Amino acid sequence: MGRALSLSIMLAMCVLPIAASAQAPSGKTLDIYYIDTEGGQSTLFVSPTGQTLLVDAGNSGERDLNRILEVLKVAGVKQIDHFWLTHYHGDHYGSLIDIAKQVPIKHLYDHGPSIEGDRPNIIKFQAAYAEFYKTIPRTIVKPGDTLPFTGTDTTAVMSDSVPMKTPIAQAPGAGRPNPLCAEHKPLDESKVDPDNHHSAGFVMNYGRFRTIDLGDLTWSREFMLMCPNNPIGTVDLYLTNHHGLDQSGAPAFVHAIQPRVAIMNNGTRKGGAVQTFQTLETSPGLEGIWQLHWSYAGGVEHNAPGVMIPISTPPTNWRLSSAALRRRLPEPVGWPRTRRRTTSRCRRALMDRSRSRTPGTAIREPTPLSRKHDFSDVAAGLHQAMGFGSLL
Ligand SMILES: [Zn+2]
Repeated sequence: MGRALSLSIMLAMCVLPIAASAQAPSGKTLDIYYIDTEGGQSTLFVSPTGQTLLVDAGNSGERDLNRILEVLKVAGVKQIDHFWLTHYHGDHYGSLIDIAKQVPIKHLYDHGPSIEGDRPNIIKFQAAYAEFYKTIPRTIVKPGDTLPFTGTDTTAVMSDSVPMKTPIAQAPGAGRPNPLCAEHKPLDESKVDPDNHHSAGFVMNYGRFRTIDLGDLTWSREFMLMCPNNPIGTVDLYLTNHHGLDQSGAPAFVHAIQPRVAIMNNGTRKGGAVQTFQTLETSPGLEGIWQLHWSYAGGVEHNAPGVMIPISTPPTNWRLSSAALRRRLPEPVGWPRTRRRTTSRCRRALMDRSRSRTPGTAIREPTPLSRKHDFSDVAAGLHQAMGFGSLL
């Protein structure tokens, strides 16, 4: 296996529809892939209708490009129906131009021009991006816009430093005053790269499952969005803002959305800040934190258990093959070995899991998931999707 592919590991998870969902066709799943771009972002959503949404494109260079292409291949993606650029930083737009050479992109979404338009790398990227939207439809997102990502209800809640103030209809807890605003402490943001403030982000509903992705939104903008009233309500799954850096992740935001599960797209030495962990650890109702990497800043005191970190990167010049890495992972509990390798298997595993028991297994039986399940245990679902059984 070549070096470029050597760490092509994704954190894949499947979430299931609920019976009462109007938009969720029976037997289909929403699949989400958090692709490891070493402290960048690239997240693939495949809707229950088969549409695809790629949020950001990691860093430039073969490493992230190949990882993203591999995930697209594993997921059977032939085209990217929607490409959502959260903001104009190299760890988010990096591989976009090269991806587009290999996979057709049908629609672009972004927050409008970069606020850092005088930086040479941004000038260069924006020129290349402008060539894209000569031929590819482009939407400059406004808060409240609905993304036509079929099979889900996906709403932009933040863009270009403008928050959505109208509560999301029928969202649990949306529109209520946020008592945490009174305790909010402003941060010195003079060292923050300003386009982070302008990140475009959304909330996605699939049945009663809700997830939020706000790119690298910053501490002050989280406050703008969530105060004095919370327009979002609560969510099941939270991709930590800004890789878990302490420039983001204000308690007034995190504790108000009350995620059940957090996923941190940190690098070993990027994000994963102690303050971010502490905020998550004290967040009401949080059941688990998944990380794309061990965080040296977090140390043993704060990092999630090893089984919740798909890659703990060894010293930077040491590479493990993905096959070897898989062998290092604990064996799944109560799961046939073949059920944790790919997305389609992940999907089948969740759909068929009532038939997937292995006799004599330890730990408690995972919660049965089926189309009739009301998705009451998203954290256990994540574990099952990763093939680890239910450890929470
Ligand atoms: Zn970033």
